[in-house]
Amino acid sequence: MIQRRPTRQITLGPVKIGGGAPISVQSMIKTDTSDLTATLNQVRRLAAAGCEIVRIAVKAEREAETLRAIVAGSPIPVVADIHFDHRLAIASVKAGVAGLRINPGNIGSESKTREVVAACKDAGIPIRIGVNAGSLEKRLLAKHGGATPKAMVESALDHVSILERMGFQDIKLSLKAADVPRTVEAYREASNRVDYPLHLGITEAGTFFSGTVVSSVGLGILLAEGIGDTIRVSLTADPVDEVRVGFEILRALGLREPGIRIVSCPTCGRLESDKLLEVVEELERSLASLRGPLHLAVMGCSVNGPGEAKEADLGVVAAPRGEWHIYRSGHFLGKVQQADVARVVLELVSSKDR
Ligand code: SF4
Repeated sequence: MIQRRPTRQITLGPVKIGGGAPISVQSMIKTDTSDLTATLNQVRRLAAAGCEIVRIAVKAEREAETLRAIVAGSPIPVVADIHFDHRLAIASVKAGVAGLRINPGNIGSESKTREVVAACKDAGIPIRIGVNAGSLEKRLLAKHGGATPKAMVESALDHVSILERMGFQDIKLSLKAADVPRTVEAYREASNRVDYPLHLGITEAGTFFSGTVVSSVGLGILLAEGIGDTIRVSLTADPVDEVRVGFEILRALGLREPGIRIVSCPTCGRLESDKLLEVVEELERSLASLRGPLHLAVMGCSVNGPGEAKEADLGVVAAPRGEWHIYRSGHFLGKVQQADVARVVLELVSSKDR
């Protein structure tokens, strides 16, 4: 059982972050923010996949105007991601966002930062200080000899102290680098220094394959140590994949309720079917939109197959002569032909007496 480190709690719309709340999964919109239709479509696809918070880049005044309609049409809280321009931050707050991601030291003079903080206080919304190893202050790069974890933490704490001096503590932090060791060290250090909730992520993690591996290792280490209150898996891929991977990481550690869990054998020389991979992939695709909980086993022969299948809610085991044996809740249900196995499983999943 993972003991989570205690943090303060903030809220983004209806979603609580920190203070023992479930670790939330978020993603970032990849469409042009000024394209309302495309952006809202992506927001809704993410929400349907279980995404709990969505972040949207706001780069220009016209996008801040579109943001109001996006917020109104979004089923989940919207966070505006702002760099450099405090007017965009204020316009986004007026558009009704649930939170801002800014770096207070990067949006202009102290008086401009005060304006943003006042707007957030009035609206009762939090600010995420999002430190990224790729855009650290030159002063800190020189002091620490590069974008080291210590430099990242010092940057984050500098931004925190700007907000704290203004009496603002509705804060969460992220300290992202593109590699696991720096990211892990930076978050560990930050977690030792402050009790603000932490948004975990590895930035620019890579494609679906490499980004999933890197994020799973990096976030997995931190989460297993009890660090982290909300996560975003960054992938050069469909953002829905970011959400799927995010939940899988949390479920693997027992940090979120079970969803659709498909146990499948890796196959070996005892395999009784040449279609096992196709069956697993079809089931994974077809069940992706379901929330679960559902434990499904797809096994290749009678050595380990029946045992795994009986432990699952539903299990299928390849047998000789193109047959598959079906198990439900620990009991043998019958035999089906290979061509029918995926269809029969899907029918059983959707039947009420599963
Ligand atoms: Fe091999 Fe059978 Fe185990 Fe699959 S279930 S890995 S086919 S022994």
